[in-house]
Amino acid sequence: MSDEPVITPKRFIAGAVCPACSEMDSIKMWNVDGVPHRECVQCGYADTLDERGNSVAKELPTRVNVSALTPKKPADPKIKAVQFFPNPKLKKHDD
Ligand SMILES: [Zn+2]
Repeated sequence: MSDEPVITPKRFIAGAVCPACSEMDSIKMWNVDGVPHRECVQCGYADTLDERGNSVAKELPTRVNVSALTPKKPADPKIKAVQFFPNPKLKKHDD
C-alpha cells in the first residue's frame, strides 16, 4: 500500500493570532492530505480545519478555553508605581 498521507512542511503564518492565547505570529500551519492543521508554539493549542474552514480542536482544553474567554485583568500600573514624597522634616537646615 502506498497510501501514506501527504504532509506539507510546517510554516509560520504571518499575522495569525492564536485563538487560545491570542499570541501573534505563533501559529504554524501545515497540510495533511489537504487538511489544514494549525499549531500554536506558545501555548500548544492545536486544531484542524474542516472542508468548510471551521476550526476543529484536536484536544478539548479543560480550562484553557475558559481563561481565554475571560482574560485576567492587567495589573493596574498605578498600584505598582510607588509615589515618593520626600519628608520635609529631613530637609537640611541651611542657616
Ligand atoms: Zn497559543
